[in-house]
Amino acid sequence: MSAASVLLERIAAMIQQSVRDDAARFGLLPMHVQVLAYLARANRYSDMPIAIAEYFGVTRGTVSQTLGVLERKGYVSKTADAHHGKRVHLNLTGAGEAVLTDSWVSRIDQVLAAQPELTQPLEITLRALLTGLQYLNGQQAFGVCRECSHFHKTRKGGQCGLTGEALDPPQTLRLCREWSAAA
Ligand code: SF4
Repeated sequence: MSAASVLLERIAAMIQQSVRDDAARFGLLPMHVQVLAYLARANRYSDMPIAIAEYFGVTRGTVSQTLGVLERKGYVSKTADAHHGKRVHLNLTGAGEAVLTDSWVSRIDQVLAAQPELTQPLEITLRALLTGLQYLNGQQAFGVCRECSHFHKTRKGGQCGLTGEALDPPQTLRLCREWSAAA
């Protein structure tokens, strides 16, 4: 086992522990907190139950149960899609955002903010590792919109080359299920 594999295993174990601790503070399961963290970063093509199932590699039934709990607790709300009849978008409520305050995500950001020179090379390395693993596991990539091969920068933010729709600046920083690596 390489040193990099050992380090990644250790980091993954620490993150899992942090997610369990974060969830326990709110009487939630780890999956609940992970879905909230995902929705905080998902773009408008990816804030749907099917995208959550793809992202975490779980069944639609599991997603449905998870969302049921999060809705009952007031952490997530649903909005009907303006153009597609049956499609719903999931939104974090203020209470849902509060669950993520001081979560494992913010602690990682805190560590990285203290060493800004490491952030970009680390992101490049992790992106390559993630893409390679997703390819080996046959999973959908998911990635940040601005780094997608379909992304076109415009004066008002961007445009999606796949759908032809305009993207406002915050959407260009979010995760997308349709993301595709540049050739
Ligand atoms: S440009 Fe790519 S990542 Fe952005 S919305 Fe379109 S398909 Fe998704």
